[in-house]
Amino acid sequence: MKQNIIGMLPSDLIPWLGERGEPSYRAKQILRWVYERKVASFQDMSDIPLRLREELAASFSLGVTRCVEVRASADGSKKFLLAFPSSDTVEVVAIPHRSWYTVCLSTQVGCPVRCPFCATGRAGFRRSLAPEEIVEEAWRVSKEENQRITHLVFMGMGEPLLNYESLHRALQVFNSPEGFNIGSRRITVSTVGIPEKIIQLGQDWPEVNLAVSLHAPTDDLRNFLVPLNRVYPIRSLLVALREYLHRTRRRVTIEYTLWQDVNDKREHALQLSRILRGLLVHVNLIPGNRVRGTPFVPSSRKRLEMFAALLREQGIPVTLRRSRGHDIQAACGELYRIHGLGGEIEDDHCFTKRRYTAGN
Ligand code: SAH
Ligand code: SF4
Repeated sequence: MKQNIIGMLPSDLIPWLGERGEPSYRAKQILRWVYERKVASFQDMSDIPLRLREELAASFSLGVTRCVEVRASADGSKKFLLAFPSSDTVEVVAIPHRSWYTVCLSTQVGCPVRCPFCATGRAGFRRSLAPEEIVEEAWRVSKEENQRITHLVFMGMGEPLLNYESLHRALQVFNSPEGFNIGSRRITVSTVGIPEKIIQLGQDWPEVNLAVSLHAPTDDLRNFLVPLNRVYPIRSLLVALREYLHRTRRRVTIEYTLWQDVNDKREHALQLSRILRGLLVHVNLIPGNRVRGTPFVPSSRKRLEMFAALLREQGIPVTLRRSRGHDIQAACGELYRIHGLGGEIEDDHCFTKRRYTAGN
């Protein structure tokens, strides 16, 4: 099988060019056609010698995914279901916002963490994505929509820090001037929190924004909502966060999805403010998106506001998120599940990949 050129940087292409007696500057030239102009075929690379274009086409593929389905939301966000040649599918969400264009990427097919309120978690886990597959998600959507991506969020299917090597390599391509040229401060990684990987991310990518999906202030409750908490309890997560903050000095976002009578009570808000006190964090309160087949009911607006007010009283900075994409099953994993499990999930007042614009 041909290697996919999507995901390559000049240093990967130079040896191949060298074998053919081609100068190394061609690598940048070729990759500009790939990442900037997003051509559909090697033949369109008009300033590359014809023979070299043919050799490129014989050695590499230029994108391997197929768009199985696109759903556009009335609010402008769009969800794509992309299929790899292996026939595994992943979801990607595009979120336009004034002059910004944010794309939400998946890092795994399904997710092994299995949070019970999450459509991806409920669909089970198939495999982790290779770096070029993660890069291709962004490339495909940017090409289909003819948009330059300004921001990236890793909030799609899967747990990015359980696929750290691929994430790291994909970040290199996204950040590189010879790749997508997206500044680190415009990239956000969302994780349930694998302590040693949080610290590693802080070392490798100190300017990438970190969002931690906490969802509960006590181990008892978090063991239920985020089952990986049994392996990495809240205490170990907070230790890692302290070290991360010490190194990066960058504010961490704490994601907290509110579910009626599960984690949205007064006592939860007070416990949460207690464990977060003194940390350079900002809490994002996310209205839950109901996923069919789960017992989780999103908290009422009144509860959300009460919860936010309690945190503010305790001096914790809070944002209340608005939902987007209600009409397109934009919550993580929902479209995947519809396709993967035979399509019995009906439209509902599901979901959102909320508007999330990282950094500046
Ligand atoms: N696995 C990573 C990143 C992907 S999920 C993580 O969990 O952080 C991105 C965010 O969507 C997480 O905060 C997750 O808790 C949230 N999410 C998943 N299902 C949701 C639902 N049904 N309603 C609201 N938020 C949900
Ligand atoms: Fe995985 Fe994140 Fe969904 Fe939990 S919320 S199952 S970690 S994708």
